[in-house]
Amino acid sequence: MTNALRLASRVLVVILACAAGAAGAAAQQVDWSTKPVQSERSRAYDALHYRIAIRLDLDQQSFAGETTVTLTSLRDGLETVVLDAEEFAVTKVVSEWGDPLAFSQSEKELSVRMAPPLARGETRSFTCTYHGKDPKAGLRFVAETADNPRLVFSDSWPDRVHHWFPCFDYPNDKVTNEILATVRSDLKVGANGRLVSVTEDKAAGTVTYHWSQDLPHSTYLIFLAAAPYVVVRDAYGTLPVNYWVYPKDAQKVVPTYGKTPKMVEFFNRTFGYDYPWQKYDQISVPSGGGAESTSATAMTHRIMVDEKNEPEFSAIGIVSHELAHQWWGDLITLRSWAHTWLNESFATYSDYLYVRHDKGDDEGALNLQSKLNAYLREAKTRYIRPIVSDRYDQPGDMFDSHTYPKGARVLHMLRQQLGDAAFFDTLKHFLHRYAFEPVDTGDFIRSVKTVTGQNLDWFFDQWLFKPGHPVFDVGSDWDPARKVVVLKVAQVQDVTRAVPVFRVPVVVAIVNAGGRSTSQVWMREREATFEFPSETRPLLVRFDPDNLLLKEITFPKQRDELLYQLSHDDVIGRMGAAAELALFKDDPMARAGLAASAQSDPFWAVRRGAIDALAKAGGAQGPAIIKKAAIDAHPSVRTAALVALGDLKDRSLLAFFKERFATDGSDGVKAESLRAIGKLGDRTAVPFLEQCATVPSYRNLIATAAKQAIAMAGAR
Ligand SMILES: [Zn+2]
Repeated sequence: MTNALRLASRVLVVILACAAGAAGAAAQQVDWSTKPVQSERSRAYDALHYRIAIRLDLDQQSFAGETTVTLTSLRDGLETVVLDAEEFAVTKVVSEWGDPLAFSQSEKELSVRMAPPLARGETRSFTCTYHGKDPKAGLRFVAETADNPRLVFSDSWPDRVHHWFPCFDYPNDKVTNEILATVRSDLKVGANGRLVSVTEDKAAGTVTYHWSQDLPHSTYLIFLAAAPYVVVRDAYGTLPVNYWVYPKDAQKVVPTYGKTPKMVEFFNRTFGYDYPWQKYDQISVPSGGGAESTSATAMTHRIMVDEKNEPEFSAIGIVSHELAHQWWGDLITLRSWAHTWLNESFATYSDYLYVRHDKGDDEGALNLQSKLNAYLREAKTRYIRPIVSDRYDQPGDMFDSHTYPKGARVLHMLRQQLGDAAFFDTLKHFLHRYAFEPVDTGDFIRSVKTVTGQNLDWFFDQWLFKPGHPVFDVGSDWDPARKVVVLKVAQVQDVTRAVPVFRVPVVVAIVNAGGRSTSQVWMREREATFEFPSETRPLLVRFDPDNLLLKEITFPKQRDELLYQLSHDDVIGRMGAAAELALFKDDPMARAGLAASAQSDPFWAVRRGAIDALAKAGGAQGPAIIKKAAIDAHPSVRTAALVALGDLKDRSLLAFFKERFATDGSDGVKAESLRAIGKLGDRTAVPFLEQCATVPSYRNLIATAAKQAIAMAGAR
């Protein structure tokens, strides 16, 4: 499940972040071990089905509902059924035989007297009539803005679904449901499952959409949205794949969502379990991120992107993430909030899998690096905690950079540990064994044992049940007498707060003129020394060359080794070398290497890293090289170049920035050229910037930048 706002920031982090979590001194660190222990909720009954008939009045921001609850008692002599119910008033409860039932309502609960009491295993239904207005949570009535029409949608995650119908609001209970939503007839209603009927009442000017979710799912995944949608129809084979967007966004459907059928195909194959639901809808809503309601993902309208801006602001990360939740989160669902990683780490790893499949190894490596950086930022500035933890204040606390990116990187390490075939067979087994059930981490570990025969308790113990990560101090030296590379490794993380000394396999690569050799060693202690044969002084020594480990590392290198790495290593190695070469400030060789990399590295993120490093390294030639990068093929490189040029505050560049604004096709680059103008502090540019503030753009990037630039220009 995804907290909309949190996910949005997460996705932005993945897209935008490339500098590592060098957030400096740790800010206030939360001690996670002081949080209260939360346990899985007990159930007195098993809810089976909710039939939710609801009338939504957008003028009054009110709703009136009739929900029929069908449940089976898990206790003998169940006299009172307690349901979660908040922010609406219940006026009547009647039994399945039409008899009124006694009930009482507190701030958060509805208690219904069963007459007669239920025997264990007995199934019964009753119907609650209720109404509510201006709910603060669960159901959001949204006024029309420049970005969205007037609409209403449910925002039930993680435990707010009981704000619009009475239910057992905890994920360990799986139900089927129907929604019969009545709205003004100019609106369309999207929801889970299959569309049973659409019935118009011409006299009343209303329409009722009847949706049926016939396969069980957790209650918080029940969803509806009503807006004047345009529904663009697509398919994967016989599976309907539809995009519900605002009329103004219809032209952006293909660049935003067009790859969805291919993603379904990829995940069917990768997970070994065919897409489980009757259709897949993605429905625009004015939230901050995505929420994977079963077969009907609520997707922030902010991802809608046109063809021109797609290369820089691609939506495939979030679109594939939410789609993957249809398996990880919806087909199987966390049993309690302690196990959020079973939803989020798996979906986050899946978005990596798709990005790599779609865009290749380099983009895949960059995606994994961004996930690592996002986790490290949180670990360094906020807190560390075990990924699986029953300590939290609110369920939302568990949806953080431990659950999303750290857990994804742990799955990546598990994959290396097991090998591809065993890893993906395990995922397949886990899905088939527990389909339509709630799961916990023990279930997953059992699947690993069943499929692979391996007891990896030591792996899960350190990565899931303990906090932190290894911080390596590495030094290497070549011994010409013995012709060996001596590698000294220390784990220097603070182990005072349950952080372990990690047991990890490490690959070490030694690169010589004659080629490259790799060996695997095990790091189990605080300190260890390893030796590797090498006839000559190596050109490069790489610790964990495939960047598999979740780690921090300091491994000082000489300038020449960094220059070799900058032009020969993989993408992550080249980016790292560029960042380190920035520290060789007055070194012409370092600057020449960075300049060459900025202009000709085959991968854009390395060119961008080289631009950042050149800007830091200074030197007379820097600006000319960076100016060339402002017309690089990739918009992110152009943006980085404009950031660096703007920081020079050189007023002779004003015409260049204006020309970039006029010529560049990317809204992000245009926006950065305006900020660069603002940094000049030239008040004469303000009328130009005011004109720019009216130019429409992706997420209003240009108008926002123009206003920032006006503030900067006027401030001097
Ligand atoms: Zn998610």
